[in-house]
Amino acid sequence: MNRSRSILISAFAGLLAFTASALGQSRTIVIDAGHGGYDRGGVPGQRISEKDKTLDVAQRLKRILQADGYRVIMTRDSDVFIPLPTRVAIANSYRGASFVSIHFNCASRVGANGIETYYYRSDSASLAASIHRNVVSGAPTENRGIRRRGFYVLRRTAIPSVLVECGFLTNPTEGRLALTGDYRQRLAEQIARGIRRQPAPYVRALTPSLRSVSLGNDFVRVPAESFSRSRKRSSKSARTHRSSKNRKSESSTPRKKKKKKSSEE
Ligand SMILES: [Zn+2]
Repeated sequence: MNRSRSILISAFAGLLAFTASALGQSRTIVIDAGHGGYDRGGVPGQRISEKDKTLDVAQRLKRILQADGYRVIMTRDSDVFIPLPTRVAIANSYRGASFVSIHFNCASRVGANGIETYYYRSDSASLAASIHRNVVSGAPTENRGIRRRGFYVLRRTAIPSVLVECGFLTNPTEGRLALTGDYRQRLAEQIARGIRRQPAPYVRALTPSLRSVSLGNDFVRVPAESFSRSRKRSSKSARTHRSSKNRKSESSTPRKKKKKKSSEE
């Protein structure tokens, strides 16, 4: 009797987990603090180190989610370098989880600012939208939109995966904000609201002047066929991301947009 009852209970728990997962609402969240160790993130010589800010927001987010009863897995919880394939492997070992990667943006143009959120697979779109709406509503900065991009950690993860760029550290205003614990706490709280699928109280309209995709990110875009070389490539990501991201924009930006881009900058 007890045995069949426990089977029933575990079946019910499994059904609940399946339903939540089908709705894209995982109770296990893999938080990925971008960069770490020798990989500071950002552009060479960038004054504000990205890796510390991503870790701080990730740790704040962890505390908020744990207090809400979520199970939280950190791909890193200290200042260490974790290769991208390892981050993906960690994410993929938690079926039914969702993956949230935290970054800050950078650009050679100091005026570049705003929040942007990335996803790749369609099963990640609603989580991306929910996180984006909430982060934008809580940040006094531009809404750069939600973008679909084949970044390594979005493409190689087998669970809903989102990467949020919490503002430009190269922008004087956003950089100053990112240096304050209060603002990083607010970012973490807004990301948590997005994970909980809470409605955003107010969403700033998409930046009207924004006519092109930001060049200020720092992920290695690995084609499917070169996965076996990815470990080697990822370890060079910090040093080579600038050139790889330029190559990426050349290959993926439509000609029309590229033209506009040059006039904008
Ligand atoms: Zn980054």
